[in-house]
Amino acid sequence: MSKIASFPPRYDHIAQKASENLRLALPLINKHKTPVNPVNYAVWYEYVSGENQQLNSAIDTRLNKNEAITDEITQYLYEKFVLMGMPERIEKTSSGMHLIVDNTMKNINKAEAKAGACATDLNNSRDQLNGLNDVEDLKSVITDILSQTQMLTDSSNDLKQELAKSTQDMIALKTELEEVKKAALTDGLTGLLNRGAFNQELEKLCGRGNIEVSLILFDLDHFKNINDTYGHLLGDKVIQFFAGILKKHGKNIHPVARYGGEEMAMIMLNTKPSAVLETAEAIRLAFANSKLKKKGSEEIIGPVSVSIGISKLVAEDSPNSIIDRADQALYLSKANGRNQVSVLDH
Ligand code: GH3
Ligand code: MG
Ligand code: MG
Repeated sequence: MSKIASFPPRYDHIAQKASENLRLALPLINKHKTPVNPVNYAVWYEYVSGENQQLNSAIDTRLNKNEAITDEITQYLYEKFVLMGMPERIEKTSSGMHLIVDNTMKNINKAEAKAGACATDLNNSRDQLNGLNDVEDLKSVITDILSQTQMLTDSSNDLKQELAKSTQDMIALKTELEEVKKAALTDGLTGLLNRGAFNQELEKLCGRGNIEVSLILFDLDHFKNINDTYGHLLGDKVIQFFAGILKKHGKNIHPVARYGGEEMAMIMLNTKPSAVLETAEAIRLAFANSKLKKKGSEEIIGPVSVSIGISKLVAEDSPNSIIDRADQALYLSKANGRNQVSVLDH
């Protein structure tokens, strides 16, 4: 199965494929006269594996213009397409937090200093009150006291306003942090969960025992042909369309994920095996019967179809073992002619 970019990056190619990627990546690193360090290796490894489409487009665009892929460029590509810009976004929100806390502390200290000065003045005024019997003198001390308390009130109002602003900034940063967190779990093309998030979901469910879990894996049939016939961009649209069907059937209850390039998954929770099969069949039919058209044309894209494999979680399962069974079921669907659903019970 192929992989799509997620943060943190995950590499779960079998040893043979990983060695093949090593064999292909090394000459490219040398060709561009860059050192064999982890950053350059990660970039070229992802490039030769062909699974990080955005990274490959960025490199190909440069290669087509005969631009050298220097160390600086691989560093940039690494941060943008391998780490997906996450460290920068996290750093930005974290330094934002620092700024707000520093600012708040400054304001509190300022208010404290002002309150201290006022307290000294008030003390002096109280001393002056002792033994005063002249009305004019009394009036003057009272005016002082009034102006000192007014200063205190002003200073505490300023602090209140500053704190309200800090709170608003904090709320904005919290929203940004939530977005960063969400982006790290979401597939950019389809808005489904990405593979990392999908693995986390399965990890959580394995061993819980109190919940019925079925896994459905989907692999679009002959997708290479779709790309070859209609182009990659339209291929992307077909993936997005299929993801829409999955979302609809997931009803925001059953997690749906883009597992690889044209491979997707649904985790069905607390659903009887017969209903899981029904859902898978409904998704298969919805896709096979879809009449996707090119924009501004009556030409129907296709035929399109999807092969499906289902497995059910058992007590001794790990994420790998339940995925393995669904994958074997999926393989059966492919081998038996595609556009069908197979179930593999343990
Ligand atoms: P099969 O029925 O056996 O699954 O045939 P297939 O052609 O779908 O299988 P294969 O795994 O050989 O090829 C998958 C193709 O999916 C190749 C790849 O270019 C395409 N693909 C993977 N990710 C994307 C993507 O993000 N966008 C587009 N447009 N195509 C993608
Ligand atoms: Mg595939
Ligand atoms: Mg396929």
